Amino acid sequence: LFFSFEGIDGSGKSTQARLLHSALAARGLDTVLTREPGGSPGAEEIRRLVLEGRADRWSPQSEMLLFTAARRDHLEKTVLPALDRGAVVITDRFADSTRAYQGIARDGGAELRGLVDDLHRLMIGIEPDLTFLIDIPAETGLARAVARETAELRFEGMGLDLQRRMRAGFLDLAARDPDRFACFDGDRDTDRIAADVLARALERLA
Ligand code: C5P
Repeated sequence: LFFSFEGIDGSGKSTQARLLHSALAARGLDTVLTREPGGSPGAEEIRRLVLEGRADRWSPQSEMLLFTAARRDHLEKTVLPALDRGAVVITDRFADSTRAYQGIARDGGAELRGLVDDLHRLMIGIEPDLTFLIDIPAETGLARAVARETAELRFEGMGLDLQRRMRAGFLDLAARDPDRFACFDGDRDTDRIAADVLARALERLA
């Protein structure tokens, strides 16, 4: 099975992905934890190309091509081989992040969103079996992301407005595909969220 975690920066999705990975591994399941952008040597190189430069280094279109190339490599080298041998794959971000960041937050309008969907259909083609959306208020996410020393705030001065649009974007994606998305209130104790996530994952695995 293929699980993804999504949410705005500072939502705690990486922590939750890690906790689910440990909980499933502790139950003896072959479980792979991976992330995007990245998750394979080639895709990690592309991650550096995109995230280390200024946000305006690439046009929205070329950035989208880079993210798609990274996702394709991640799929070929990491995700599909693991799924083929029957492992559970947990990825911290997948295509919904591109739909939200490049399709919504980048302000490219309907044209850019259409391109995201077209590229996904042409080059990726698969969706997670279940997507855990960790939802938090934009203010909370921004405060956490800024407080985190290691935060890679990609959009300089991205501010509250962008976080709000991103949050709305993820919630909209979830509303359109309620069978695939499971939404969790991320503004609670880490352990309580993790317990809810694990219960939902085990339900899906049963
Ligand atoms: O999730 P992670 O912290 O690894 O993401 C790194 C940065 O890349 C984040 O700041 C996020 O905003 C950005 N990102 C993006 N487009 C994506 C995925 C992530 O701009 N498709």
